[in-house]
Amino acid sequence: MTMTALLPNFVCGRWQSGTGAGTALLDPVLGTELVRVDATGLDLRSAFAFARRAGSAALQALTYAERAALLARVGQVLQTHRDAYDAIATANSGTVQSDSAVDIDGALFTLGQYARWGTALGSARALRDGEAVKLGKEPLFQSQHLQVPRPGLALFINAFNFPAWGLWEKAAPALLSGLAVVVKPATATAWLTQRMVQDVVDAGILPAGALSIVCGSSNGLLDALAPFDVLSFTGSADTAAVIRSHPSLARHAVRANIEADSLNSALLLPDATPGTPAFDLLVREVVREMTVKSGQKCTAIRRILVPAKVYGAAAEAIGAKLAKVSTGNPRNAGVRMGALVSRAQFEAVQQGLAQLAHATEVLHDGRTQALVDADPAVAACHQPVLLGARDADMAQAVHDVEVFGPVATLLPYRDLPHALALAQRGQGSLVASLYGDDAAALGSAALALAASHGRVHVVTPEVAQAHTGHGNVMPQSLHGGPGRAGGGAELGGLRALDFYHQRAAVQASPQVLAALGL
Ligand code: NAP
Repeated sequence: MTMTALLPNFVCGRWQSGTGAGTALLDPVLGTELVRVDATGLDLRSAFAFARRAGSAALQALTYAERAALLARVGQVLQTHRDAYDAIATANSGTVQSDSAVDIDGALFTLGQYARWGTALGSARALRDGEAVKLGKEPLFQSQHLQVPRPGLALFINAFNFPAWGLWEKAAPALLSGLAVVVKPATATAWLTQRMVQDVVDAGILPAGALSIVCGSSNGLLDALAPFDVLSFTGSADTAAVIRSHPSLARHAVRANIEADSLNSALLLPDATPGTPAFDLLVREVVREMTVKSGQKCTAIRRILVPAKVYGAAAEAIGAKLAKVSTGNPRNAGVRMGALVSRAQFEAVQQGLAQLAHATEVLHDGRTQALVDADPAVAACHQPVLLGARDADMAQAVHDVEVFGPVATLLPYRDLPHALALAQRGQGSLVASLYGDDAAALGSAALALAASHGRVHVVTPEVAQAHTGHGNVMPQSLHGGPGRAGGGAELGGLRALDFYHQRAAVQASPQVLAALGL
């Protein structure tokens, strides 16, 4: 068998191949080897030093508007290669075109937004943080808070499910803030990230050192971090726990943003009985969330909370729509849902289902339908499964286990306080969505959930066409949730820049404060 190509890493301003044999990236539908990645032998300390010394320094010599212009050019270059990204996503992620678009176009949209917001920041080199306040009776001596770019780099350790968006939703605010980026994509789907970096490097848009990529093992990455660096991690709660206890974070106070897993819920309010538009909206959104990217979205609906009296009707309506979802080879035009990202993830979904089996009943089992154009012994394709737990309080596993695939559980509640308490059993989630038509009840439910959720998405009949989707992460809104969800905070417009800036207070006369140029 001929060896597939070994994708090089880009560090210290040049392409460098690992010295090991590499890890193969596979087509999750056909099981064939596509390319290999390897990071053995890279001098990561030198690579990070170069990124700080050359990349961050060059970026920070520019204004926000100049850096925003670079983002716009990056977006243009990526757009010209969009077809290649689509092909890589089909081959390496096993996604149908509309699912690949969530990742690729989501990345382009986010880059475009930050380019526009950054342009509006103009020629400043630091950001004003509130107004100056006097420190005595007279305004002779004042305190002005400001935010300045941190003199380190931004390391991203990313998850497998968003190889395109996962890079650019972080890189856009980081580069706009003036921090060099080093990305380590998840191995299983590293190809798309690597190709995008290659296209941007080839186009010569960014200063040397501003964008680096390490593909393959994460060994040594955290050891190379220094006090002013920031680390943004997206992945499982288990890996997050390992990362949090690493000496770089524990001893050097490296700033870390952690996006981990989450048991997001959708909540049908008591007034939204079958036959109401809100009921239909919940059903539509649940089916969409379970099937887009085969349920491999950190924001996907995992728990569906409905009034006890509509449990049966909801199960039937969701099941009827899931029955129309064809699963299989994304290259077949008749397929609506492609593969999971790997056979390992297929096994993980089986394991998750086994963990939930004790606490749940199966309400819809897509596994009774054959895969389209895919060999079940090889392909990582998994049909949708709707579970239900009639005693939502006792079904602890449903509030604990995130099955990262097309699986969700229907849970009946007694009254609204009970429903809100069940949503909070997720111990902190990325998003909850509410469905109903009573603005007062929805408003107070949204407030009640805000402390334990990064985002509350409220769907009423009048926003049926306008709402952006439970699981879609819009750059305008905060992404990240407390507790189990990792405690991270990304996006949210220019709020994302906070993570890459250092806040300081300058205490001085008004004349000196005016000279800060804010
Ligand atoms: P994972 O196994 O935790 O891996 C995430 C990343 O961490 C990968 O790049 C992985 O590299 C790397 N990694 C593994 N062990 C490491 C270590 N000891 N030190 C440093 N890095 C290490 O997660 P995953 O399976 O790729 O992603 C699925 C999970 O991510 C799901 O639970 C999902 O909920 C979560 N997720 C969350 C969000 C969010 O925004 N909150 C978004 C997407 C996904 P290798 O691939 O080389 O092992």
